[in-house]
Amino acid sequence: MCGIVGYIGKQKALPILLDGIKTLEYRGYDSTGVAVLNNKINAPKIYYAKSAGRINVLEEKIAHQKNGIDGFAGIAHTRWATHGEPNEVNAHPHFDCKKQIFLAHNGIIENYKELKANLIKKGHKFSSETDTEVLVHMLEDERNENPGFLLEEAALKVLKKIKGTYGLVIIDAREPEKLVAVRNFSPLVLGIGDGEYIVASDASALLKYTRQIVFLHDGEIAVLTPEKHKIFNLRSESVTREPEKIEWTEEIAKKGDFPHFMLKEIFEQPEAIENSLRGRLLSKEGLVKLGGLESVQDKLREAERIIIAACGTAYLAGRVGEYIFEEYAGIPTEVDFASEFRYRKPVFRKNDILLVISQSGETADTLAALREAKQKNILTIGIVNVVGSSIARETDAGVYQHIGPEISVASTKAFTSALSILTLFSVFLGRQRGMSLTMGRRITEELGKIPDLIKQILKSKDQIFEIAKKYESYNNFLYLGRKYNMPIAQEGALKLKEISYVHAEGYGAGEMKHGPIAMINKEFPSVVIAPSDSVYEKMISNIEEVKARRGPIIAIATEGNKEIKQIVEEVIYIPKTLEMLTPILSVVPLQLFAYFVGVLRGVDIDQPKNLAKSVTVE
Ligand code: GLU
Repeated sequence: MCGIVGYIGKQKALPILLDGIKTLEYRGYDSTGVAVLNNKINAPKIYYAKSAGRINVLEEKIAHQKNGIDGFAGIAHTRWATHGEPNEVNAHPHFDCKKQIFLAHNGIIENYKELKANLIKKGHKFSSETDTEVLVHMLEDERNENPGFLLEEAALKVLKKIKGTYGLVIIDAREPEKLVAVRNFSPLVLGIGDGEYIVASDASALLKYTRQIVFLHDGEIAVLTPEKHKIFNLRSESVTREPEKIEWTEEIAKKGDFPHFMLKEIFEQPEAIENSLRGRLLSKEGLVKLGGLESVQDKLREAERIIIAACGTAYLAGRVGEYIFEEYAGIPTEVDFASEFRYRKPVFRKNDILLVISQSGETADTLAALREAKQKNILTIGIVNVVGSSIARETDAGVYQHIGPEISVASTKAFTSALSILTLFSVFLGRQRGMSLTMGRRITEELGKIPDLIKQILKSKDQIFEIAKKYESYNNFLYLGRKYNMPIAQEGALKLKEISYVHAEGYGAGEMKHGPIAMINKEFPSVVIAPSDSVYEKMISNIEEVKARRGPIIAIATEGNKEIKQIVEEVIYIPKTLEMLTPILSVVPLQLFAYFVGVLRGVDIDQPKNLAKSVTVE
């Protein structure tokens, strides 16, 4: 969560820092701050500004500030509060008693209370309620006790005393040609420029300046000067790591002509899925090529159970995966919230596989679930978008999504891409287990058509907008689906909650009469996913049950189905495809519906309240 940017080099730091945190604003946005080290004056000094609210509030404040914020090194932060209200005092960067050391932090310091009490006893004055502030006073304390210590030496001492997760950037007026960056469970990447370095919690903030990046690993400290960097670990061993080249272009991290990243990403889905499928469909042979799984294919052949662990939308993709794997690969599959899995003492069997799904590859709970399985020697596989991210590095094998950065907090293209990859994976496993050539061909051929089918659905945008206008004032919705589309009902409801703040429940339609039906009346519309598949007749019965209680109905149905038009208020059509692939299509109108309801209700779509992208805290 939260965005961190640090800069040291030959350019003025302030515009680069502000620009960087604007790119990262989707990661946290309740308050912001910046600190810049003027290293070109006799007694180097750090100037700072903080404010509650968005980055534009901070910019206005800086414009009116008397002491110009100037210098060639600095740090910036956009916060997603965990400890203490999102106000100006709690905003980062935080500073020590003498305002010499400044620091920005992503994560949580779990043992901050006792550390803080100790420091207060020693006379340190705290100004904020955050867990973070303890770090900067600890650095000061180390410096007081060991006056000869360099900043990184003090940092090393501090890190050995703290518990928790952190990505940190630190500057110190006494060492004006240096920026220190530290990583433990919170992502941090170094961008190497020409005579400059830019550090950020997400590679998208670096794209303007460089493609050469170094991913820091957990427990590593990087010391940056304009010309060079060195990395060492908690055991003080130096680490050498070749920079990696990232392929994303700056344009794909921009909104272009779209009013919001969410809409842009919904419309990018055909291309995103094409990229996820590129080179992987061998339709003639009825096979798929997943290079990232080849090293473990023998182990996959022996697999007797798949356990999927993920969070939020990725979890719901996993739920669809469960249906696909069991029906087409014949492998027992279980899906769990990563946040539950990591604590519930799961029982593993020898030939289990853990499959984790995370767009960012940094989701804290998913990473912890992965580490739990690895400790038990279980084969781990990842479906991840961000190349080089923690989950990508730590899984035994995996499949990259290749969909470019997903900026909108509400995930869309990462979801449909994950569904496509789960389908590929089911063919990979299925063909190892007796799936016929004909079936392999059918699935791969139909999957290859999905991008064009999504393009057709996107043409219904105006119709969906009109439906959203009719329903925007309702305060409760029930989403219903069965079998492959049961998780899609939950995903549709989740999208509506996330970006319109409207209460919505997503249910398996068969479960409706065991509870939710009690709520149905003419003020409580239902969104019903009823493609022409093996459970269509059952869905029609459920629709009748809702109607009998006067609930208005918006249905998602297969093109050509005229019958359903007679019984529901609204129908949005999706093209015909294999039953197992319908979720990739049926979710698209639900994404658009949630988007438009959110827009009509005045929600800040790309930065919905209380949420943040890439959930790197528990
Ligand atoms: N725990 C810190 C705070 O509440 C950092 C939160 C963040 O990652 O933005 O200030």
